[in-house]
This record gives sequence, structure tokens and C-alpha cells, in this order.
Amino acid sequence: MYHLTGVTKCYRSGRQEEDVVRALDGVGLYVEDGGGLAVQGPAGAGKSTLLRILGGLERPTRGSVELDGTDLATVTECRLARIRAESIGTVLGEDELAPGLTARQNVAGALVPLRLRPADCWELAGEALAEVGLSDQQGLFPRELDEGARRRVALARALVKRPTVLLADQPTAGLDADAREGVADLFARLWSERRLSCIVATEDEALARRAPRRATLSAGRVTAITRCAGRDAGGHH
Ligand code: ADP
Ligand code: MG
Repeated sequence: MYHLTGVTKCYRSGRQEEDVVRALDGVGLYVEDGGGLAVQGPAGAGKSTLLRILGGLERPTRGSVELDGTDLATVTECRLARIRAESIGTVLGEDELAPGLTARQNVAGALVPLRLRPADCWELAGEALAEVGLSDQQGLFPRELDEGARRRVALARALVKRPTVLLADQPTAGLDADAREGVADLFARLWSERRLSCIVATEDEALARRAPRRATLSAGRVTAITRCAGRDAGGHH
């Protein structure tokens, strides 16, 4: 699945050539097929940068980011766009739900680049919403949903194309306790039941605890990788 070696990402932080922030500093990471991972670390550790690089939304300054043998750091834009459209589902908080579309229309819209028949898109969107527990709210507009439900629509939108990888940035941040629990339950299910590599960046210990594996980032470096023993992910031991 993913194989990262020496991934470094520098951003310009000022006017001078030498004003750079090293958001990632030589990250090496391996994620097996179907493997789940929670990336933890404090604000500024580099979690969002790592997810954008895993998602092919940004390229590293140095290092390689192999996804099933293709290096996302060096593939052509055209190939990269295709890999993103077909294989990578993202909930990175950068694209809001379209306010003028219902939940189901928002989810179906994610299939446009795949050129499926409209009836199939509609069908798949309904299934994805059922999967996140929103069947009865699929005709509602984003403003009519609570924040927890909107997060789940965004998740359905990422899942509807049946990606091989799902990347989510702080999916429980800013939610109340009940909604947090609901979203964490969904990820626990994805981690335990689906053959989908699901990688989540989070500062929420309760969510991270349910991941099969955890990586800790600190100042752009991976400082620890732990496998979660006796995880509470439902049914699997
Ligand atoms: P986290 O998601 O763990 O809070 P980020 O990946 O957002 O961490 O940021 C890591 C570091 O990189 C921070 O110091 C941040 O200010 C810097 N950074 C992130 N994105 C950019 C950018 N586009 N331009 C400049 N600096 C950035
Ligand atoms: Mg972040």
C-alpha cells in the first residue's frame, strides 16, 4: 500500500530564501494493504501536511511516497489526478459540502469524475449514506443537518467511490461528546470490518485508541509507532 521514505516537506515562511519551516523531516512509514493508522501529535507536528502528501494534494520537497508501487512524489499531474479520483478518498476539511445540494446529491457528485451512469451514482450515494447511518436524512440540505451528520456526509462522499485508501484529518475535532462518539464508532468499523486502508490524523485520544496502529509525529518526525493491543474495534481480536 503506502511506503514512504525520507519524506521531507519545507515551506517558505518569510521573504528570505532561508526562512523555511520543515513541516515534515525525513518521515518513513509503511502502511500495509487494509491497514489502519491513527497519526497523532500536537498542533503543528505535521499531521495535515502528511495527509496532504499521502493524498497526492501536495508533493514532498524530498523523499518518495509510494502508493501501490507508484511514487506520488514524481508521477505526472495527469496520472496523479487519476489516482486521486479512483483510489484515494479524502476528508481533509478543505472542501465543504455544497450548500445548495442535498446530502445524497453531495455524495453522488463525488462520482462525476468516474463517468458512471447517473442512476448508478444515485444508487451508490444512497448506499454510502446508509453505511454512515444517514439513510433517513439523505434528502436534507447541509444547513438542516447537525455538525456530526455533516461530517458523516463528508465521509460518505469520500467512501462512495470505494477508494483503496481513506484519509481523514481530525474527523472528531470540534464535535460534542455524542457526535464524537458516533464518528469514532464509524472509524472503528472501517478499521475492523473493511478492507480499506484508513488513515486518520487526530488529537483525540479516544479516537486514536481505536485504531489498529498509531504513529506519533513530533516536529515533523515519526517518534513512535505502536500497534494497539486489545483494541475496542468491535468483534475482532
Ligand atoms: P498539524 O496538522 O499537525 O497541526 P501542519 O501539517 O498543519 O501540522 O503544520 C506543520 C508545520 O508546517 C507548522 O509549523 C505549520 O505552520 C507549517 N505549515 C503547514 N502548511 C504550511 C503552508 N502551506 N505554508 C507555510 N507553512 C505551513
Ligand atoms: Mg492539522
